Amino acid sequence: MPIRVYSTLTRQKEEFQTVEPGKVSMYLCGPTVYKPAHIGHMVGPVIFDTIKRYLAYSGYQVTWVVNITDVDDKLIVKANELGTTVEALARKMTEDYLDNLRTLGVDGIDHMPYATQYIQEMQEIIAGLIEKGYAYPLNGDVYFECTKDADYGKLSGRNLTEMLAGTRAETRDGKHNPADFALWKGSKPGEPAWDSPWGPGRPGWHIECSAMARKLLGDTIDIHGGGLDLMFPHHENELAQSESCTGKPFARYWLHNGLLRKSGAGGKIGGDHSRHGDSADMLAEKQAQEEQKLAGSKGAESVKTAVFAKFDPETVRFFLMATHYRSPVDFGDDRLAETEKSIDGFYRLIESFGRATGKDFYSLPVPATRTESDAAFVGWDSVPTSAQVGTVSQPTVWPDYKAELAALRIRFLDAMDDDFNTGAATAALFDLRKTLNSFITDQKLEGEGRSNAAAQAALLRGVMLFKELANILGVFRKPLEKKSAGRADDEFVNSLMQLLISLRAEARKAKQFEIADKVRKGLTELKVTLEDRPEGTIWRRET
Ligand SMILES: [Zn+2]
Repeated sequence: MPIRVYSTLTRQKEEFQTVEPGKVSMYLCGPTVYKPAHIGHMVGPVIFDTIKRYLAYSGYQVTWVVNITDVDDKLIVKANELGTTVEALARKMTEDYLDNLRTLGVDGIDHMPYATQYIQEMQEIIAGLIEKGYAYPLNGDVYFECTKDADYGKLSGRNLTEMLAGTRAETRDGKHNPADFALWKGSKPGEPAWDSPWGPGRPGWHIECSAMARKLLGDTIDIHGGGLDLMFPHHENELAQSESCTGKPFARYWLHNGLLRKSGAGGKIGGDHSRHGDSADMLAEKQAQEEQKLAGSKGAESVKTAVFAKFDPETVRFFLMATHYRSPVDFGDDRLAETEKSIDGFYRLIESFGRATGKDFYSLPVPATRTESDAAFVGWDSVPTSAQVGTVSQPTVWPDYKAELAALRIRFLDAMDDDFNTGAATAALFDLRKTLNSFITDQKLEGEGRSNAAAQAALLRGVMLFKELANILGVFRKPLEKKSAGRADDEFVNSLMQLLISLRAEARKAKQFEIADKVRKGLTELKVTLEDRPEGTIWRRET
């Protein structure tokens, strides 16, 4: 299935075709760094990191830019409040942002330009817009004249005539129209300022992105992303400036992610949560989501204290993957706790796999591309040919198990091809987990079946598939941090546990049941469960 993406500009899913074959340029609006990041700032990066991972897996060479707005009214106010400089505050908050990205495994960003390093490029666009009659200087400021841009409003679906109806043509501040927005702002005393043909000043917010995207990715970018709250006015204005300046389309596809809102309403974890209907009224959708938005201005705490102090980053990332990126996300401790519980089985599977094969899941290789992976699955979804009979890697044994793996793989990849539907993709992962667990049980791979090399190899193949797909979503890349103390694969803890288990076994053998019970009871109090199996006793730490 070819990749299809829903673009806000056309309000429909379109076949994904890039400007340059095999290459993708992607721009995501980054934060204004004036205070520590809250969870809302992390949604876009996690989603677009996953999109990049999938596009790279699909064979594209992706260049991804996320900008940092390091000059802005909010920054000036906050720096004054704290008695520091705009620059010092911006650097400090950028560090915090980067720290959180690392925590969430967002590692695909290629460029993170600071707006203040592209002032010249911004001034070039502004000068070009004045020259072409799209912009006008006014008392040290420069404004974009919306009425000069014939298709202004096409991204958000706003009609400029309707927007202007009832307002006076001339506004009190001298702007030609109330909708005209600042490209350049003359600076007040004490504010950061750069020299310009229009007097000392600083750039407007929208022009920053137009200039950085153009400089780093070219006149037309493939994917422009951002939260739904940025669609208007920010993206509408970016688009208007860029297209008026270059005469070329600014972005081929506009992808808007849904906003976080306080939990209470939402659906279940792991499912296909694509938005209903054709989303014809994006503005109404934007407004509805914004009203419930969990944003910094409404007092959302920093992501470090509100989220990472309580939940493992892997849980947070999986939670964000369990919903379709365009849908609003119901966020809260209850939802994260629910996710933590629902994904625990994956960690159990990883432990079982370790016991069955003696291999470490986290060091298994993953194929870099789909083509590489396809090669490993040739014939898995069909009856084997006579030529394939006898080779372990082909579906000559356990055809049902292997056909199921192949089908789940396709289900996952089809979901991702369909506008990066991570909700449906995670649902396929849950089913894959079920298939692998059944195989381990049926083949008794943690017990007498452990010596069955062919069954072990088949399990290994299935678990490698699980790792390959999880890796696309950026999850299960490392053991849970909170659980890493006391995990079955912690060598020291495991040795201590083996010692206790053997002492208990000896006590039972000697019919000293009181001592044996004491060991079990003591462990239960420490939330460690012992399970006596035919192949021996295994232990598990409850969390
Ligand atoms: Zn932007």
